[in-house]
Amino acid sequence: MISVEEALKGILEAISPLGLEKVNILDALGRVIGEDIYAGRSVPPKDNSAMDGYALRAEDTRGASPGKPIFLDVVEDIPAGAVPMKRIEPGQAARIMTGAPIPEGADSVIRMEDTRKDEARVSLLVEVKKGKDIRHEGEDVRQGEKVISQGEIIRPAEVGMLASLGRSFILVHQRPLVAIVATGDELVDIDETPSQWKIVSSNSYSLAALVKQCGGIPLQIGIAKDRREDLLAKFRAAMRADLILSSGGVSVGDYDLVKEIMKEVGNRMQFWQVAMKPGRPLAFGSLGDVPTVGLPGNPVSAMVSFEQFIRPAILKMLGHENLFRRVVRASLDEDIKKKKGVRHFIRARIRWDGEGYAVVTTGEQGSGILKSMVRANGLIILPEEATEVRKGSMVSVQLLDNSLERMPAPGF
Ligand code: AMP
Ligand code: MG
Repeated sequence: MISVEEALKGILEAISPLGLEKVNILDALGRVIGEDIYAGRSVPPKDNSAMDGYALRAEDTRGASPGKPIFLDVVEDIPAGAVPMKRIEPGQAARIMTGAPIPEGADSVIRMEDTRKDEARVSLLVEVKKGKDIRHEGEDVRQGEKVISQGEIIRPAEVGMLASLGRSFILVHQRPLVAIVATGDELVDIDETPSQWKIVSSNSYSLAALVKQCGGIPLQIGIAKDRREDLLAKFRAAMRADLILSSGGVSVGDYDLVKEIMKEVGNRMQFWQVAMKPGRPLAFGSLGDVPTVGLPGNPVSAMVSFEQFIRPAILKMLGHENLFRRVVRASLDEDIKKKKGVRHFIRARIRWDGEGYAVVTTGEQGSGILKSMVRANGLIILPEEATEVRKGSMVSVQLLDNSLERMPAPGF
């Protein structure tokens, strides 16, 4: 039996980040950038006004007050996007809108509300300091400056920055195509009516959803019967993917059949017993040169194994550096007994109880009980050496979603 860490290490060592592709910046949202971005231009490109008001020379405002206004000649009107045509001389001002370029000669802006319009003149009611209400050229980004580094995740702010620099396409790591092969004579697809002896291959869908959720592209290969030709055909079809997942057929007896067949498509598979519950049986290796993981067939085992081993692998392929779900400490609301020597992942509901996190299991923990997974927002991780964990003790909980971050709307 190997540990969870050894299994994870073995899988991650066989996985490398995928190559780069050029995508539109909106399609890059959530992806990992594969190039450094240097500003090809300054933002803003020219000094411009931060306010609606008048562009002028600060020294012309000296001594101005509501009781003793100073009058300047208004020589021009500069709306946003316009080019100033006149130089501002002593005693002159230009009416200017937010974002419009500062005319030559002017060194400050006085806000509209600090002035009164008086025919072709403006009266100034306050003094302004030199540079007031001017956004300076390059104050956001200087031309040549590095603004985004390789390896960073593209968020809406990065999309906005790239747009302001005129970059509509960037290089990001490719999304892995992840083939999913379900195995088992007892399985039917979703729209078939299962007879008494058959069950729907829910793994085909939960695994595809997990792949999608972490940014991969699921490739549904369908259900392979527990027969030589069918297994061969399905595994061959899967080999165009970047990663192959199968479910079922890795229990001790079954594995021999799968292993036998996989040899014919050029497999190097090892069979592991991982010291965890659920998810003990796991096969890992490659078909041709495509990394391949044989996940257990039980619906919860398949999902829990995916969370521990496949999610980090897909994130690594996508170029991410942070591969793991958040783990928080929470106070356990009940007593739990477990088997020594095996790490337990227990479906649970974690919540903020006003002072800290509290966690309670979501019921029946059989590896075929998907309902307790549906109700869970986390997995309590109990270490190998533990045998009994008491109510009130602190335990680690791996978060499965962001429900802990959801806050009530302000005012509720
Ligand atoms: P196996 O490891 O092939 O013996 O599968 C163990 C159990 O998992 C089976 O008895 C099925 O009940 C269940 N199972 C296997 N494959 C799937 C699947 N694709 N979807 C849902 N349940 C499955
Ligand atoms: Mg089976």
